[in-house]
Amino acid sequence: TTATPVRTRFAPSPTGFLHLGGARTALYSWAYARHFGGTFVLRIEDTDLERSTPEAVQAILDGMKWLGLEHDEGPFYQMQRMDRYREVVAQMLNDGTAYHCYSSPEEVQAMRDRATAAGEKPRYDGTWRPEEGKVLPPVPADRKPVVRFKNPLDGEVTWNDVVKGTITIANKELDDLVIARPDGTPTYNFCVAVDDWDMRITHVLRGDDHVNNTPRQINILRAIGAKLPEYGHLPMILGPDGQKLSKRHGAVSVMEYPAQGFLPEAMLNYLARLGWSHGDDEIFSMEQFAEWFNLESLTASPAQFNNEKLAWLNNHW
Ligand code: GLU
Repeated sequence: TTATPVRTRFAPSPTGFLHLGGARTALYSWAYARHFGGTFVLRIEDTDLERSTPEAVQAILDGMKWLGLEHDEGPFYQMQRMDRYREVVAQMLNDGTAYHCYSSPEEVQAMRDRATAAGEKPRYDGTWRPEEGKVLPPVPADRKPVVRFKNPLDGEVTWNDVVKGTITIANKELDDLVIARPDGTPTYNFCVAVDDWDMRITHVLRGDDHVNNTPRQINILRAIGAKLPEYGHLPMILGPDGQKLSKRHGAVSVMEYPAQGFLPEAMLNYLARLGWSHGDDEIFSMEQFAEWFNLESLTASPAQFNNEKLAWLNNHW
């Protein structure tokens, strides 16, 4: 038997500089692929046209380059994959895992308000959701539909998160997600699911601000017949005071460090240990790190960034 080759990805949204948290995510994904002689994919999630900029794309590429985190495939840009997303939407409409919904935004808001008033989670009420023997309302003239994913009504989504352990979400908690807007553009979670499928990603390491997206992505992946990746959600990096990391704790942008005389090796050594535990080795090469790196030693509690420790490491390089 041959094991599935390991494929990881780093999937930044180019809405700002490469920050320390992003660099750490990239480092772990890179190391895991290297550890197994696998493939590390770089994917630029640039579909948020209002917030994505070419400068941010460049800043991410520069930061990765400075750190020496070379990708094996990509960069893939989501904006260049629109035809592919449309194709999958069409396929899902065709096989009944998604449906056209003609409810207006006002109607959807009213449904959500009604649910809230009834003490329930705000959600789409399923007016346009096709079911056996159900007669759908007449299609309103001159209204463009959204496409909704037909989320399972019952049961639950469970995955064994490599950082957080078993996570279970009831399908009742998940809405029939809009996967394509009235103008046909695909939405965020849908694009991520299609990409992870097409790019045959086996291990997803990302910030734990994405935990709520995961059950949605898993349901979509199941509906399109994809093999599920493993997921690991990394707790965010905090300042030494336990507060959200910000400028007052030191530079949060990776590319501010080169000009301050920092070596990429020192930065990598520091980031490597910020959320992954190993023996007392102070200084190691990236090859060594890739050899040691494992998912079992990722730490579930938020790491604290300490600028002085980083500076110390840099000075003793
Ligand atoms: N684009 C997302 C971000 O920058 C990451 C998505 C993912 O890794 O699945 O936060």
